Amino acid sequence: MSDAESSIRLEGFPASDGIAFGRVRKLDWHVPEAPRATVRPGGAGRELERFDEALLWARRHLERLKAETETLLGSVEARIFDPQILMLEDPEVVEGTRRYISEHRVTAARAFEWRMLELRELWARTSHSMVLDRLNDLQDLKLRVLNRLLGLGSPWETNDEPDAVIVARELTPSFVAGLDPGTVKGLATDGGSRASHWAILARSMEVPAVVGLGDVFARASDGHAIIVDGRMGRVVVDPGDSEAERFERRRSRIMGWTRRVVSAASEPAITLDSVGVTLRANLDLPGEARRARALGAEGVGLFRTEFLVVGRRAFPDEEEQYLAYRAVAETFSTQAVLIRVFDLGGDKFPLFLHMPTEDNPFLGRRGVRVCRDEPELFLVQLRAILRAAVHGDVRIMVPLVNSTREMVAFRGLLEVAGEQLARRGEPFRDDVKVGAMIETPGGALAAPELAASADFLSIGTNDLVQYALAVDRTNTGLSDLFDPFHPSVPRLISLIAEAGRAAGIEVGACGELAARPAGALLLMGLGVESLSVAWPALPEIRNLIRGSRMEDVRAASARVLAAHTSAEARRILQQSVARTAESGQRAE
Ligand code: PEP
Ligand code: MG
Repeated sequence: MSDAESSIRLEGFPASDGIAFGRVRKLDWHVPEAPRATVRPGGAGRELERFDEALLWARRHLERLKAETETLLGSVEARIFDPQILMLEDPEVVEGTRRYISEHRVTAARAFEWRMLELRELWARTSHSMVLDRLNDLQDLKLRVLNRLLGLGSPWETNDEPDAVIVARELTPSFVAGLDPGTVKGLATDGGSRASHWAILARSMEVPAVVGLGDVFARASDGHAIIVDGRMGRVVVDPGDSEAERFERRRSRIMGWTRRVVSAASEPAITLDSVGVTLRANLDLPGEARRARALGAEGVGLFRTEFLVVGRRAFPDEEEQYLAYRAVAETFSTQAVLIRVFDLGGDKFPLFLHMPTEDNPFLGRRGVRVCRDEPELFLVQLRAILRAAVHGDVRIMVPLVNSTREMVAFRGLLEVAGEQLARRGEPFRDDVKVGAMIETPGGALAAPELAASADFLSIGTNDLVQYALAVDRTNTGLSDLFDPFHPSVPRLISLIAEAGRAAGIEVGACGELAARPAGALLLMGLGVESLSVAWPALPEIRNLIRGSRMEDVRAASARVLAAHTSAEARRILQQSVARTAESGQRAE
């Protein structure tokens, strides 16, 4: 059998960048089952004590993990453990379990198992992917407390083999936080998502990871060679020599290329024919601001603020928000920082709001629509933003805008926030620019009207693709249909860019498309003046801009607008990417 025939190639989703070579180390963990035992009459008190002791122990353990994570990775990563710590105080968990112990005379382990199962089922009924990701935290906590109650050891023995690639059905934040990146080279899982807490930790620890591989656990055998390509979302088990060499070459090309482009971070993002493109960063967390600045971001094109609310039980007060926004504004003191107000609903769901479950959350109370229902929540945020604006060039971005009416109502709310601050005598800026995020085909078709009511436009390509093609962006089974090069998408983008140009206001793009070389060229060529990308993509996109001629890029984009198929559009754009000056050394 040839190399190629014996190797197993699997496609998943990239969760943490980098290419890892190692040996499979299968992690066959599961949550233990509590024995079906009842306690003798009068024994419930002892079980209640055991339960309290296990909760206390779990809390201490989590606090320690949080402190260690804070020292090693930072405070934002450390907060990943907060939802679990909060669950330990949640009456739904604690009182629910205690009630089962007292009323049904079952052991603490059995009662806790029941309660967690019930909560899991309740949560699993929602289609909010944010909530589904939090099920993983629930599982982590369940494992910890049950292991304690049943007197079992840690399920996470990995016996420190060098060059291990952990292969599992799923992982948890506690496990990943405890890993030694010196010995564990990569992670590959059947399930999981890029947004799960353990994947966020893997990115911070710079351990390559691929999720959603389906059956890697069943197909990989312990000790076998494995390659994890966290950039492309691929895994190869038992690679042949030539395949391993190919990945090794790719890895050293990426490393060499990364060194070169990172060292060029201070070069301006300007094309060969001297057209400047404003290259900004997307931030999910304030802690990313310094990394983005080090990689030459010219400001922040999208500061997602949902980290302040999702997974939290209480709404963050004005002061906490103000400090978070101010920190980013000060990091980019002379450059624009576009703060997006909470984009709730859809896949981002704060537990404290108790938003009603909707059949189609992406078509429901989402984005700017939530401002209408929850004005108080947004007034607090707007006051914090207006105060932070004193410390830099802060602008406000409104998600999912479809109509001028929404912009007018939003500006009304902003005015109220300003009046409240003025009454308090608090320093704030009253001339903050307000932009509309265009993320729907309806918004794109109404772009001339929206441009008249906004100070700038920003294209959210992730949602624009989702709504243009009616493909749920979180449905991994439909990922092949989530196609930003479908003929409809460039045409919608072109309408938005044209409307912005006619109104004389800036048009930017901040969805994932801007971080893909072919997508960045398309956006530039269609007249989008500023691109905002996740900070790791900054060097690559800067390099691309510096290696291209705007005249050629515009010509290619014009051909894409006329293309009949996505394949044709991709071909045109790939040719443009290949023509950039660095083409010989680009890392694909
Ligand atoms: C988008 O939709 O493209 C976007 C940038 O916003 P989010 O991904 O946060 O919905
Ligand atoms: Mg969006």
